[in-house]
Amino acid sequence: MSDTGSEAWEGVDRLVAGDADALERSTEAALRPSSLQEFVGQESVREQLSLVLTAAVARGNAADHVLLSGPPGLGKTTLAMIVAGELGAALRLTSGPAIQHAGDLAAILSSLEAGDVLFIDEIHRLARPVEEMLYLAMEDFRVDVVVGKGPGATSIPLTLPGFTVVGATTRAGLLPAPLRDRFGFTAHLDFYSPQELLRIVDRSAGKLGFTITPDAAAEIASRSRGTPRIANRLLRRVRDYAEVHGDGDGTLASARAALEMYEVDERGLDRLDRAVLTAICTRFAGGPVGLSTLAVAVGEEAETVEAVVEPFLVREGLITRTARGRVATAEAFAHIGVKGGASGTSRLFE
Ligand code: ADP
Repeated sequence: MSDTGSEAWEGVDRLVAGDADALERSTEAALRPSSLQEFVGQESVREQLSLVLTAAVARGNAADHVLLSGPPGLGKTTLAMIVAGELGAALRLTSGPAIQHAGDLAAILSSLEAGDVLFIDEIHRLARPVEEMLYLAMEDFRVDVVVGKGPGATSIPLTLPGFTVVGATTRAGLLPAPLRDRFGFTAHLDFYSPQELLRIVDRSAGKLGFTITPDAAAEIASRSRGTPRIANRLLRRVRDYAEVHGDGDGTLASARAALEMYEVDERGLDRLDRAVLTAICTRFAGGPVGLSTLAVAVGEEAETVEAVVEPFLVREGLITRTARGRVATAEAFAHIGVKGGASGTSRLFE
């Protein structure tokens, strides 16, 4: 699951979760919507997925394989759980990096029961032989189990019951076409609007029994990087703050103070987002700068910068991706308070 295997991704998450990870995770689990009705936003994905699931239930077959892509914290794991719930099926969870050898996958597949949903997080990180075994299994519900080693090894074909794979990825572009083609339903999750995040914050506050004023909830929503997981985490930090420094209720003043303490700025950018912007604007004079150079400059993995930081900054109109690298916009210069926006902007049109 994203919750357990993706420390490298988490920008604000890492900042605000600290050592309280186990507790954070159990609270996060309690806040997960358990049905498509409860799942806020992503209207067209919900509608299409609902159709896929209803049709599968009506036919009494395993549903088509589902591929969900998008930045972390937008609801991929939650949707996988909902898929299993709506199908009345058991959910089995694993991740690309956890399946090291084809034999590991063969063991997982051969333990599946009819109709099971197999969730594979970070599916773009499967090793090539594992990937090949997976797409044959997805297509033919068959797997060849190799018994023995060396010249005496034999391959025993094993027929599998019908099952549904739900794959999640932050990097759909990295999936090889034969694997991607095995998914009957593919959806990309996009960042949420402040209005949708407000609904999520309200719902979560209700579940946590935390009273929060509408303006405080709106403040959290607008600073959550378009991401439900971050909205929920910030809500919990505001609750902590209100309990320690106030009368326990979430007010605009306590929300602002808590967000400032956790270095989430008024646009929702966290420390890593700002480090990336500052590096492009100051060290690379607005860019263009290549991804790996940029990642080194901020001391992060290139994958984290690409999958976590960039999508949000691009959506906010703070950077653009060009063939020659990442370029800061005039708005980025203005946001971090550095002169030079004009040259940054002119580069956009080169
Ligand atoms: P991902 O797998 O994409 O990293 P998750 O499914 O783990 O994201 O979602 C992170 C948290 O955000 C969950 O605990 C859930 O409570 C919340 N969440 C995600 N999407 C929604 C949504 N559409 N509506 C309400 N809560 C959501």
